Amino acid sequence: MGNERGIAVIGSGYVGTVMAACLADLGHEVIGVEIDPAKLASLNSGVAPFFEAGLEERLAAGIESGRLVFTDDYQSAMDRSEIVFLCVDTPPGTNGHPDMSSVAGAARSIGAALHEPHIIVTKSTVPVGSGNWLEATIEAELPLGVDRDVLCVVSNPEFLREGSAVSDFLHPERIVVGGDCEDAIEKVAHVYDRVLSQDFDGGDPMAKPVLVKTGRATAETIKYAANAFLATKISFINEIANICEWIDADVAEVARAVGLDSRIGPKFLSAGVGWGGSCFGKDTAALASMAREQGIEPLILDAVRRVNTNQRHVVVRKLQDHLRPLRGARIGLLGLAFKPGTDDTRDAPVITIARSLMEKGAILRASDPLVNSLPEVPDLRVFADPYDAVCDSDAFVLLTEWPEFLEMDFDKIADCMRGKVVIDARNAFDPEAVIGAGLVYEGIGRHARH
Ligand code: NAD
Repeated sequence: MGNERGIAVIGSGYVGTVMAACLADLGHEVIGVEIDPAKLASLNSGVAPFFEAGLEERLAAGIESGRLVFTDDYQSAMDRSEIVFLCVDTPPGTNGHPDMSSVAGAARSIGAALHEPHIIVTKSTVPVGSGNWLEATIEAELPLGVDRDVLCVVSNPEFLREGSAVSDFLHPERIVVGGDCEDAIEKVAHVYDRVLSQDFDGGDPMAKPVLVKTGRATAETIKYAANAFLATKISFINEIANICEWIDADVAEVARAVGLDSRIGPKFLSAGVGWGGSCFGKDTAALASMAREQGIEPLILDAVRRVNTNQRHVVVRKLQDHLRPLRGARIGLLGLAFKPGTDDTRDAPVITIARSLMEKGAILRASDPLVNSLPEVPDLRVFADPYDAVCDSDAFVLLTEWPEFLEMDFDKIADCMRGKVVIDARNAFDPEAVIGAGLVYEGIGRHARH
């Protein structure tokens, strides 16, 4: 269906693989480009290189149908496509700027392989204005004799969340497409026809996404503004939580009542250990740095980021209060992934917390349903069975609210622990169940210790 020359998706990470598999599932001919040989081999055998619900079956079906292939050969990808979605990583760089080396590398490879007109679509989150730089980078590599008019760069930011990425991709609330060439915008929007009409098995015609067509810089800005606002909500409620602790109010009840106001809404108002993951930290840093470059002091963004960093230390301070000194204290950490439903540990709160606790001499054991080691904290012992992380401990901390952890038996835990302290850094346990087992419960911003 759709485009005769098909679609290329460059970079097969969380965004690219989900996009490639979903577009193939919707009937498009898709060629994924990936430079990591291990990932490429895994993808071509239909095995996702990371966990995401609903992905593996779509990947395998796409490959089986012949509509989805993966390669490291840019020439064949460009020859077989008209629209190229750029989904490579933009990790944190220096001074808040994202590291654009993967985008630059992909742009050069695209340019060298272009002969016919192509639409290059940035899905990677890139600093505002990157479209112009990308165009110039690709143009500089075009083979001799190839007209510069072969190229149009469009921004189409991605809003999916890890843990529900497939569902988010298929059921977005909005699709943003920004650029200067009307024809290219129409073609990119056309790729999403079935998502926009929700005309697929499992689609919801009552919840059709809004298509936002705009300028390229505006589209790039929308992505940063959306992530910055979500990050702000989280830091806001965490600051309220810290205030609640001093006045003996319960932040969960405060947040519920505040969120009942439809101008505010209930989402992203869960107090806890703050955000983690590959996007919020990097994107708020990038937006702040862009503002500074223009002479604008990003007062809110700076505060939002400081509150989030501080929140990780709140957990360490709570442990210190209960266990002082931490030297020799045995502490269990439940959860390494930055949130449930993913095996991604990029910028996970556990990294800061584990390092800080180890520096203070604590002895740590951790558990996660999907993650069995943390490269940033190589000495951290990780167990598949969460009871192995909490038994014999003086205290344990819930850092990721995996359902497996929420279903644990507190009587069994109370029997096997050396101490009694439970720090619920996600406010996800039932305090009464914890206390009922004879343990000491402390959440974030909930009534003073039980
Ligand atoms: P990722 O690190 O999981 O995947 C990037 C992939 O690109 C890797 O597999 C890497 O090997 C590959 N790659 C790098 N250079 C390449 C090249 N020159 N040619 C081909 N492949 C190359 O990253 P991700 O989490 O999928 O994020 C991708 C982009 O999307 C980032 O800009 C991110 O900010 C943005 N984004 C991410 C999410 C998310 O939840 N992860 C959500 C929205 C937007």
